[in-house]
Amino acid sequence: MDSGEIDLHAALKKYFGFSKFKGLQEDVITSIVNGKHTFVIMPTGGGKSLCYQLPALIQEGTAIVVSPLIALMKNQVDALRGISKENGIAHVLNSSLTKGETKQVKEDISNGITKLLYVAPESLTKEEHVDFLRQEKISFVAIDEAHCISEWGHDFRPEYRNLRHIIKRIGENIPIIAVTATATPKVQEDILKNLGISDANTFKASFNRPNLYYEIRPKTKNVDADIIRFVKQNQGKSGIIYCLSRKRVEELAQVLQVNGISAVPYHAGLDAKTRVKHQDMFLMEDVDVVVATIAFGMGIDKPDVRFVIHHDIPKSIESYYQETGRAGRDGGEGHCLAYYSYKDIEKLEKFMSGKPVAEQEIGHALLQEVVAYAETSMSRRKFILHYFGEEFDNETGEGGDLDDNVRNPKKKHEAQDEVVQ
Ligand code: ADP
Ligand code: MG
Repeated sequence: MDSGEIDLHAALKKYFGFSKFKGLQEDVITSIVNGKHTFVIMPTGGGKSLCYQLPALIQEGTAIVVSPLIALMKNQVDALRGISKENGIAHVLNSSLTKGETKQVKEDISNGITKLLYVAPESLTKEEHVDFLRQEKISFVAIDEAHCISEWGHDFRPEYRNLRHIIKRIGENIPIIAVTATATPKVQEDILKNLGISDANTFKASFNRPNLYYEIRPKTKNVDADIIRFVKQNQGKSGIIYCLSRKRVEELAQVLQVNGISAVPYHAGLDAKTRVKHQDMFLMEDVDVVVATIAFGMGIDKPDVRFVIHHDIPKSIESYYQETGRAGRDGGEGHCLAYYSYKDIEKLEKFMSGKPVAEQEIGHALLQEVVAYAETSMSRRKFILHYFGEEFDNETGEGGDLDDNVRNPKKKHEAQDEVVQ
């Protein structure tokens, strides 16, 4: 097929109902349609799935999509089935399928009905699947959440390391598209190297979130009172408060409730029913605040979260960016407030002490960046973007005045003195 003849805009309208591509989507899709290895780095919500879904739909054969989470795969498959009369247009191949279901999936692939086949990396390692797929027409392999390949990423998964080898066995010249929202230059390098696609066309969107305000406050023993004051000043607005431990989540939720703030706790220790209930209460605005561990947030799409508070500092800048990124999705105000004390860093170091040395070293290096961020007197936004390999000019860049250090410049030693040791 000559890619030049394909009307991408028409396909976008036909399959997704959108009239315009978002950001770099069109360039990415053109690269894929031209059969090139392609690397896409866009923040969450950037529209990465469409970058591989659309070319899969318009190209011959089946695209294999590797994804780490069953829930994510299911969502996408359901959405794709909604745009076609053909149920077999998208399938998930995993170990929970019956023999009959697996047979049906394979038949649909062989018959050219299936345009997207979602697999978890461990399913792809299965010999029988590889043997089957190598005989089929595969348009490309998309690797979603590609940072899982890297030990420097926030979600390292060893199974991702074998992908290159497996893809090679499925076909010698299959184009690979790697997609991620978290790419420090180190993670990027790892992904390209590990997949053996250093020649990939790389597309990187800006990570700047111009409507978010970044602030760090020293963590004193009055932190709870400070949070209560902040939430009361923002009454009626939706917010998330992250704590490190389940215990702290429960305690803080209670303290807020006692102080007349409508808040619910959320953590993995609560039973599934309660978790869903609390999440829905937050989404439906029956409560203003959810106090949560990092278990809360994956796939939560509430556009008008007005503040994200970190009661405890996260373990990496990437986690911090992801978690604060849940504020102001609609482009409106989003206040990101984190409390910092070096004591908390020591606590996080201690948690790691049982882990393998290599992991500890990486964890330590990531934490040092968090320390540097919390203690810096330079623009927070500039710091974050620099961390992601992006230069930012506070004079000309969007949102350049939206952080505490830019608003109230202070000398570094002052900032240090305030921190309770
Ligand atoms: P990511 O994986 O980058 O976090 P998604 O692929 O989940 O982002 O897309 C985020 C949202 O953007 C989805 O609701 C999707 O429907 C929407 N979207 C994607 N492309 C477009 C577009 N061209 N126009 C409008 N909305 C889009
Ligand atoms: Mg995604």
